[in-house]
Amino acid sequence: MSIEDTPPNNTSAEDMNDPPGPIVEPDPDPEPQPVPDPIPGPTEPIPYEPQTWYSITWTCRTAGCPNENQELSAPEMYSNDGKTLGVFCGRCNKKGTILTATKLDPQPEPE
Ligand SMILES: [Zn+2]
Repeated sequence: MSIEDTPPNNTSAEDMNDPPGPIVEPDPDPEPQPVPDPIPGPTEPIPYEPQTWYSITWTCRTAGCPNENQELSAPEMYSNDGKTLGVFCGRCNKKGTILTATKLDPQPEPE
């Protein structure tokens, strides 16, 4: 007493849908993404004052990021300790590079 295996039918419908001619490769992207020239950063560290608001320009150095080497601005950035002023790229979540910082005059009133 044995169970007789029924061989599967190997003629699948997919085989009949193969394209008859050679497969045409899609054209490679003829225009690679233009990468703008790197924006030179500050040659010296920008001296910040503690608890001071600045308006800054900055850029992202992350390769492939949509913001890479784009000059961006942030109108209000706060330096808490006077040593660091951090800006993070909203596209790649990496830390941006501050190019210029201008102390706001007058300083915004604390709410
Ligand atoms: Zn970025």
